[in-house]
Amino acid sequence: LALGAASCGNSREGENKPGDAPAAKGFAADSLIGVALPSKTSENWVLAGDLFTNGLKEAGFKGDVQYAGASTTVADQQGQISSMVTKGAKVIVIGATDAAQLSTQVKQAKEAGVTVIAYDRLITNTPDLDYYIAFDNFKVGQLQGQALLDGMKAKKATGPWTIELFSGSPDDNNAGVFFNGAMEVLKPLIDKGDVIVGSKQTDVKQTAIQGWKAEGAQQRMDSLLTSTYTSGKTLDGVLSPNDTLARAILTSVKGAGKPLPVVTGQDSEVESVKSIMAGEQYSTINKDTRKLVSETINMVKALQTGGTPTVNDTKSYNNGSKVVPSFLLPPVIVTKANAAEAYANDPKLSALTK
Ligand code: BGC
Repeated sequence: LALGAASCGNSREGENKPGDAPAAKGFAADSLIGVALPSKTSENWVLAGDLFTNGLKEAGFKGDVQYAGASTTVADQQGQISSMVTKGAKVIVIGATDAAQLSTQVKQAKEAGVTVIAYDRLITNTPDLDYYIAFDNFKVGQLQGQALLDGMKAKKATGPWTIELFSGSPDDNNAGVFFNGAMEVLKPLIDKGDVIVGSKQTDVKQTAIQGWKAEGAQQRMDSLLTSTYTSGKTLDGVLSPNDTLARAILTSVKGAGKPLPVVTGQDSEVESVKSIMAGEQYSTINKDTRKLVSETINMVKALQTGGTPTVNDTKSYNNGSKVVPSFLLPPVIVTKANAAEAYANDPKLSALTK
């Protein structure tokens, strides 16, 4: 679950064998570029698809942007990647639906001379992955953990504070990395007794929400409220890994007629930014998808001219087979206090902060 960042044990930097170098060394300027995205579990994926379609076209490439379906996601995505290879794609950008289930397709791509870039989510257990581009996921988790503490302290200056923990889908490598980042901040306080996990469910397996599904988070919150918070115990905060789950958690708490806890999030989804401005959800993370897509297209352009894409991290993401050269962008924490500033260059979101 938690490969990469915090959990990468043995860095094997410098061990790349000659055959590990990216295969594509320059290709025609109007080549086919495949983009295989997961199902639309949050707004960022919808946005990414549109931005790739337009951005690749503008750059002169033929883009083939596909989403995994809502149900048979893994098989869908495997089939889409294979068919991109068959159609002659020169680069395939993948937002993995299941990190550990794509090694066969990535190998097939590699053997056909295709460069594979993991987008936002790492692909694990394959030596054939060329690059990874994402926002710094461990940092996202740290920011979430810190925001949770800050939000609770603002409401109640001294602890102990009672919280619950949620994490994302176990098949998404990011889920464990976000959780580890947050726990790096929270664990020392939990150990001291300043922060109490009411249900005692602190293991990532107990906190995971399969498929990042809102229903799953709402159900888990409903049962936590029933099992742990009926006898007048106060819930001060909830660590939520993203906005979709944050809103589901808030819906559950409202349904139970309890006071709203401090709830974190991620993605700067429209409904969550509105909720933050209304004083309900406490925080989100701004990971500007426009920036992530344009930097990915820059990588493709570099490969097209026979150059090497820029990376800025060659140690954090060990995918179980190798350390994947990565380009990591900085995430930004957003609360009501800095929303206007954080979204200043994003007309859609900035309008919500007025
Ligand atoms: C992304 C998050 C997103 C989640 C669910 C993760 O891999 O990094 O931004 O909230 O997937 O779609």
